[in-house]
Amino acid sequence: MTDPDPSSSDPDPAPSLADGDAPALPAGSDALDAVREALVEWYEADHRDFPWRRTDDPYAVLVSEVMSQQTQLDRVVPAWEAFLEEWPTTAALAAADRGDVVAFWSRHSLGYNNRAKYLHEAATQVETDYDGTFPETPAELQELMGVGPYTGNAVASFAFNAGDAVVDTNVKRVLHRAFDTPDDDAAFERVASHVMPPGESRVWNNAVMELGGVACGTTPRCDEAGCPWREWCHAYETGDFTAPDVPTQPSFEGSRRQMRGRVVRTLGEFDELSLDELGPRVRVDYAPGGEYGREWLRGLVDDLADDGLLTVERAGGDGEEDVGGADGDPGVAGVQVRLRE
Ligand code: SF4
Repeated sequence: MTDPDPSSSDPDPAPSLADGDAPALPAGSDALDAVREALVEWYEADHRDFPWRRTDDPYAVLVSEVMSQQTQLDRVVPAWEAFLEEWPTTAALAAADRGDVVAFWSRHSLGYNNRAKYLHEAATQVETDYDGTFPETPAELQELMGVGPYTGNAVASFAFNAGDAVVDTNVKRVLHRAFDTPDDDAAFERVASHVMPPGESRVWNNAVMELGGVACGTTPRCDEAGCPWREWCHAYETGDFTAPDVPTQPSFEGSRRQMRGRVVRTLGEFDELSLDELGPRVRVDYAPGGEYGREWLRGLVDDLADDGLLTVERAGGDGEEDVGGADGDPGVAGVQVRLRE
């Protein structure tokens, strides 16, 4: 996590953006406000209901974070519930036999047993060094055994709403695609801090991680998941969905709906486009004669025309026509497409 610049008198602790960081989202802009509101609204309308998201007990949050480090979230749920039933407080865990905690860890296949030992030790520290009361800041939390910068910040955010912007692999992927953030740790920190509303780390970090988890995964589900950032997203606009952890263009099997959405969105910005003008705006790898070429795009616009969303005309023609009637006809390049009024 990045510390605020001590030389700045700005009460907003977000580090300054460097040239090229999120140029479309300057501080104080309507766009930045809109990006923030859209994500929080999307998250609050519907999100995966993990039980640790319903508590602000720092001990319960810490247990969930440690368990999630190596285990899929769905599998963490029963282990987390059983752990807290067995040892509901730091006092209970500190009083437990360390061997029992390690045995629990193994039984639930939660990864390295050292994490169980560290958790037991951290509970002991809270009881003995902090009088049973958790520290609240990311820096103080890192004094606890086994708690690094990421976990310390997560507990500060989710238990005390006092964290910095989370930057993990999922968040990097989202920021890279959405705001064309360079693949550089300092840039990710700057942009993540910049877009997080000040003092909102609890909801924001949950929301941005949810976005990376359910919408902007390695294969993005922009339209299916109703991603709230499509309007601003660089990847959605360009069709280049590569990311630091997704170095080659992900496959889009079953994402015809996404492509349909992109056709409609693109045509919303232009009066009229030919297929070869529309194609590269829908897919970066569009090539007239290629797999994703005129034939493919014709099928897409034909469906949309059938659905009454598009009008398809011959360039220089005097009326609408069914683009599907030009199968194999090289003249299809002269087809003009626009949104139906
Ligand atoms: S529009 Fe798609 S690529 Fe962009 S942030 Fe949303 S899910 Fe990710």
